[in-house]
Amino acid sequence: MIPLPPQPEATTLTTFQEGNETFQATPQTHAAWQAMRTAAEGDGIDLILVSAFRSIQRQQELVQAKRKKGLSDTEIFRVLARPGFSEHHTGRALDLHTPQSALLQEEFETTPAFQWLNQHAHSFHFHLSYPRDNPHGIIYEPWHWCFQRGRK
Ligand SMILES: [Zn+2]
Repeated sequence: MIPLPPQPEATTLTTFQEGNETFQATPQTHAAWQAMRTAAEGDGIDLILVSAFRSIQRQQELVQAKRKKGLSDTEIFRVLARPGFSEHHTGRALDLHTPQSALLQEEFETTPAFQWLNQHAHSFHFHLSYPRDNPHGIIYEPWHWCFQRGRK
């Protein structure tokens, strides 16, 4: 198993509203997301943002909440990156959703939205971070896309 690399926390964030929710992301990520969502819309694909920036402290709280529920660290760190190792605190990672699909479930991969992302996300510099059977021991997350310029 290859551990996830540590990630620096975002220092510059743009705050924006979508639906009734407030999100934060780096300015570049925000701009790329707006462009990608608009392009998807043009192809009849509805992409909905579920989660973007999440601080290291917030990640720690999520871990604590799961520990309080009695989950073991092995169980917890299959579904949550360790605080400091998540891409969400970089301000570049987005969790996406589309109507007619369960929220943040593997079945997202069967949606036209996921097919569209597979074909087009890379042109907006978004990449799937945790593919099926990834070497980091993180569950397959077809909904989690990270903005990374220069990555193939
Ligand atoms: Zn995510």
